Amino acid sequence: MAGETSSSASALAVSPLTEEELTLTVKWSGKEYTVRVCGDDTVGELKRRICEATNVMPKRQKLLYPKVGSKLADDSLLLSQIPFKASIKMTMIGTVEDDIIVDPVESPEIIDDFELGQDEAMDIKDKEVNKQKLRRRIQQYKIQVRNPCRKGKKLLVLDIDYTLFDHRSSAENPVELMRPYLHEFLSAVYAEYDIIIWSATSMKWVELKMGELGVLNNPNYKITALLDYLAMITVQSDTRGVFDCKPLGLIWAHFPEYYSAKNTIMFDDLRRNFVMNPQNGLIIKPFKRAHANRNSDQELVKLTQYLLTIAELNDLSSLDHKKWEAFGNFKRRRHD
Ligand SMILES: [Mg+2]
Repeated sequence: MAGETSSSASALAVSPLTEEELTLTVKWSGKEYTVRVCGDDTVGELKRRICEATNVMPKRQKLLYPKVGSKLADDSLLLSQIPFKASIKMTMIGTVEDDIIVDPVESPEIIDDFELGQDEAMDIKDKEVNKQKLRRRIQQYKIQVRNPCRKGKKLLVLDIDYTLFDHRSSAENPVELMRPYLHEFLSAVYAEYDIIIWSATSMKWVELKMGELGVLNNPNYKITALLDYLAMITVQSDTRGVFDCKPLGLIWAHFPEYYSAKNTIMFDDLRRNFVMNPQNGLIIKPFKRAHANRNSDQELVKLTQYLLTIAELNDLSSLDHKKWEAFGNFKRRRHD
């Protein structure tokens, strides 16, 4: 425990309301917060809720509870498998991450994306338990609108890490790690698309990173909203276990007069993030090793052309974005 001597230990009281729903009272830094979770949530989900209340990032949290061994160290475990008892206290040890100047590099890097089978992906999207999680997230998550939605525009949702920015390389100035043509791309597509940025990191980090790159105050385009990892949901697959994804239904539910499955496209380097809405996702080639690739990477130029071409369609939902490079004038075959 050396190195964690400055950590805060907090008590957490648990009281099950129904078989499914738990209301947790979290004591932290002398204050009490209420955290609501369900039996079909995972430990990772519980940590996320605690983070919402306390700002202690999930990866910084250690949860201690009598007689459960190391179960609370397994983020994929369902809470229904842990014998919580009313009024028995849980201890959370963790520190608030004040220093967000550098990317949290000790977070495990996602090495490989994985492909779920078509049937399995469909299954995840249609599972009632996942729809229920989405409904809860819609109720819980507040989207702060930075600039108004515009009638008649389509919606582009963008991941950050490896999509717009190489977060694993180091540089004196973060602009060196920015994907080439980012501002040109955003300026051009803004004519037809509202833009939402959704990253699996914390809001502080999203704001800092986008601010440093000059994305939040560019005179040529405006960002409608920023979303962070708290807007994600955790789903379970038979072959790949538990993972987080970005359900676009959360955005559609918040802005039903503006955005839907018919006019939304999302770029992400991880296919699994689309699992709740596979038809709306476009897998972008990851932008890595910025110093070596920043003079040659043309993805955003080509994608500008694609987005402006498909913007003429009334309905994007029948497109196969896997074939985006072959669409319109793009004849080059992609070798993956
Ligand atoms: Mg990414």
